[in-house]
Amino acid sequence: MKHASTADREDCNWLNVDWQEELKHNITSVAALEEYLPLSPDERQDLEKITARHPMNIPRYYLKLINPADPDDPIRKLAIPSTDELILTGDMGETTGDPYGDDKHDKGNGILHKYPYTALVVATEYCSMYCRHCFRKRMVGLPNDQTVKNFKQAAEYIASHTEIKNVVMSGGDPLLLPTDVLKEMLDALRDIDHLNYVRIGSRAPVVFPQRIFDDGLIELLADFNRSKPLYVPTHFNHPNEITPTAREAVQRLRSAGVTVNNQAVLLRGINDSVEALTKLMDGLLKIGVNPYYLYQCMPVERVRHQFQVPLKSGVDLVDDARRKMDGYAKRFKFIIGHDIGKLEICGRVDDKLILKQLHARPGYQHESSRILVRQLTEKGGWLDDLPEVSL
Ligand code: SF4
Repeated sequence: MKHASTADREDCNWLNVDWQEELKHNITSVAALEEYLPLSPDERQDLEKITARHPMNIPRYYLKLINPADPDDPIRKLAIPSTDELILTGDMGETTGDPYGDDKHDKGNGILHKYPYTALVVATEYCSMYCRHCFRKRMVGLPNDQTVKNFKQAAEYIASHTEIKNVVMSGGDPLLLPTDVLKEMLDALRDIDHLNYVRIGSRAPVVFPQRIFDDGLIELLADFNRSKPLYVPTHFNHPNEITPTAREAVQRLRSAGVTVNNQAVLLRGINDSVEALTKLMDGLLKIGVNPYYLYQCMPVERVRHQFQVPLKSGVDLVDDARRKMDGYAKRFKFIIGHDIGKLEICGRVDDKLILKQLHARPGYQHESSRILVRQLTEKGGWLDDLPEVSL
């Protein structure tokens, strides 16, 4: 039985590995996982059940961040399936496969067009890791009909919709595509005049930084950035993810002129403490990443009952943590990404939650920028759980 240790971590020179070769060593089976972490027979059986439904995929780099002696290790919970994924009902309430309403805005061929000014392209269903809390759990690593088949046609859709001001390449993780495929995609977007900027959503800097050490990728991003500003929204959730290797990955992106923003998720048992949130936001600033969003965990099937924090305790927690942060650290917005649009959780007045709608779904533009007030309850973790009230 091999146990990951700090020494293992320090011995690895992740800067010089071939990322495509390294991906082949990802841990994808329960048997391979047992080489690294001890599992009881019951755990083994449950993990087989879970991974048959939601695949497991863990890069060796990320696995080595786990302290094997700590069953509550936050990295472990983010990467390794838990029997909690088998819980389908519970105190937290209803769940859904599609909390953000992506399916309603699916224009075909990988395009999701929910807000007039933004088009999202599902560039791949593959990620270097299948995060256990993923809100696209229904499709990551699984065959689906929402991934782009013909990017040229996707670019034509974007070119013909002049109201679109920016494109988010998402997935899955677009940076897991070979560099030449990514180049074709970016080239197709480069000359669309009404696009102000392009985002490539990627968790690679956090879970698989080896991808970012590919000079060809950095040259491609730097070259595109000379035509249009390029942003990489990434996804650090815990300060233990902010390693020297992740810092190097971020520096390489920044050397290409890319702005790196972070979109974390508030997750029970992972970052639901003042200390974890403060260290996370401070740590991001230290490596040149801007704290941008902190999402309320969505009511996703096989995610909600494990990870969601009730809004009543969550809003206090975030405010307590913000009190310890300087201006740049607390610039992030605490967000509900809802079917009706994006809502910022502004805070509470007594037992009433105050929200502001930032974006609204098509046909409901008048709802954008409105203030919403909801009665907080002990367990309510989603907008729909909280009764509407007035101040
Ligand atoms: S990298 Fe992103 S899309 Fe992929 S599984 Fe993790 S959270 Fe989901």
